[in-house]
Amino acid sequence: MHELQEVSHLARQVLDRLVERVCGVCERNCCHQGTMMGSQDLRRLVRALAVDAALADRLRKGLVEKACEVAADVAAARKVVELLRTSGTGQAQDLEVAEARIRELEQFRETLASGLSLDYEDLRRLMLHTALRHNLLRALSVLPGGHTALARFAGDESSFRFRGRRIAPPRCIFHSRTVGCLAGRWKPAKCANFFCTADPSLLDAIHSHMDFDDFVLAAFDPITWQRLLELLDAEARLGPEYHEPMVVVGLGDEHRHELADRLNRAGVHTRLQQGIGGTLWAADVERLGQEIPRGEGLLLVLPELSAADLYELALGLDRLRQANEQRLLLVAPAVYVTPSRPPHPMWTEHTMSQPIGYLECYLLAEDSQGAGSLACKP
Ligand code: SF4
Ligand code: SF4
Repeated sequence: MHELQEVSHLARQVLDRLVERVCGVCERNCCHQGTMMGSQDLRRLVRALAVDAALADRLRKGLVEKACEVAADVAAARKVVELLRTSGTGQAQDLEVAEARIRELEQFRETLASGLSLDYEDLRRLMLHTALRHNLLRALSVLPGGHTALARFAGDESSFRFRGRRIAPPRCIFHSRTVGCLAGRWKPAKCANFFCTADPSLLDAIHSHMDFDDFVLAAFDPITWQRLLELLDAEARLGPEYHEPMVVVGLGDEHRHELADRLNRAGVHTRLQQGIGGTLWAADVERLGQEIPRGEGLLLVLPELSAADLYELALGLDRLRQANEQRLLLVAPAVYVTPSRPPHPMWTEHTMSQPIGYLECYLLAEDSQGAGSLACKP
């Protein structure tokens, strides 16, 4: 187990360096196309916030930073409308519409700056940003020279700049210029799954510098027993919509029984099931998940698990997530098999994404060294 922790840690360092280098050159273009967060992604973030105080701090600071960008956007748009009004350019009615859209964006800025409570409803309000900004741009586009004037008045802080002949889409509301993704390791599935369309591509680089087993092991986080209990307590408290599957390597027999008992006491009826050996297939995982009654849990003990099995697990669980069929499924393999031969067929440099990033994989830390292991990845 200790050796697995070491390999996972080193693999993570290699992966982090690759991301820093390749995404750095690409200037994080995939975070400059609006936000990828969906409802279930937000719930996962809320669940993480329940156990990770540092994440709340990071989010709050990042959103205040974002409020400055929105303030700069509002200021630039106001200057455009003032200029057009003073010069008598544009229809009065169109100018009024633009002013109304500016007021809406300003209200959004006030929400951001006021310090959000970061519950689900609060976070959902952040999703309005792309639409409000888009509505403002549409209102300015009917005014003569509206967009050109906007780009001229936009200072460094503002998000309004031309890309080709159009104003570029906004950065994701969770993207901070200083710390990157505010959601950290809890980013949405699409982002976490190394979805990359750049050239050179991140996946190309990963494929050239890492082998399959190391790449998968880099997706594991160490977790203490205490942290694991906190995470499951949070799930039980928040309710079925917040249930998330996870894989925990290193759980002994006593651990498994204690976890199931604890979940049962917390009101989440949880079964312990002994899985059979052999290859794991995504379709079987999907079926297994569908069979867990909503609001209940399953602790599945597998004789062994390899990196290729984890890919199938991730694919099956992702299908459940997309069908809004979240379940509390805790997979506890008795043995983690490495190396995995052969690698999963999706492990090619031609595939645009790899499914493993979103799956919560933990290595149970043998001592308190893993404390704080849920801290954000860079
Ligand atoms: S994942 Fe790909 S598209 Fe996104 S920032 Fe990295 S290199 Fe660019
Ligand atoms: S959620 Fe994070 S990784 Fe995804 S687009 Fe937004 S900032 Fe980028």
